[in-house]
Amino acid sequence: MEDAVEQLDRLERSITACTVCDELVACRRRAVPGAGHPHCTVMVVTLQPDVIDEQGGRPGGTATLDALAAFMPALATGADQVYVTTLVKCVPRTGCDVRAPRDGELEACFHFLSKELTITTPHYVLAVGEETARYLLHKLFKDPPFKPGEPLEMRVFDNPAFRIVPIAEPRDLAALPAKARKEYTDKLRALSQVMGL
Ligand code: SF4
Repeated sequence: MEDAVEQLDRLERSITACTVCDELVACRRRAVPGAGHPHCTVMVVTLQPDVIDEQGGRPGGTATLDALAAFMPALATGADQVYVTTLVKCVPRTGCDVRAPRDGELEACFHFLSKELTITTPHYVLAVGEETARYLLHKLFKDPPFKPGEPLEMRVFDNPAFRIVPIAEPRDLAALPAKARKEYTDKLRALSQVMGL
């Protein structure tokens, strides 16, 4: 039977060869698969690949993960337990200007993330940013586990297979006033310990 590393290699080849989203394929330098431990403790999911990762040949979400590690150092020290990826695997662009992914692109790409979850069996999924969290929770729960407008950050949502924790994007953390930033950082450090990083 194919092991997790082989399955991830095959998935990477599928992502690299994918041409479903015409507009994204027209402007991408490459599709940007995720990467990390094949049986990770924590999967970090961001909305879309950064251009810097697309250009630099790095896994999708790496730039965000690096920025997040300034507030959650265990993501760096425990990097061997982490898998990082994105909801869409290509940088979304129109006229070659970077934009947010459209609903149809998120839907078209979700099966790749679903496979990554099945293969790597994380205990925790960190959903980075509001849009990522809301999309993931809608996809992974039959009924949305939150009321419209309810804040999601730092809540723990139990899925039968893993726990999903929405957290702020690093740029939003950096913009917080010093006291609020320290409080949020303390919560992230405590979360790291709970997750076993
Ligand atoms: S975003 Fe996903 S589904 Fe769309 S072309 Fe890229 S890899 Fe394929």
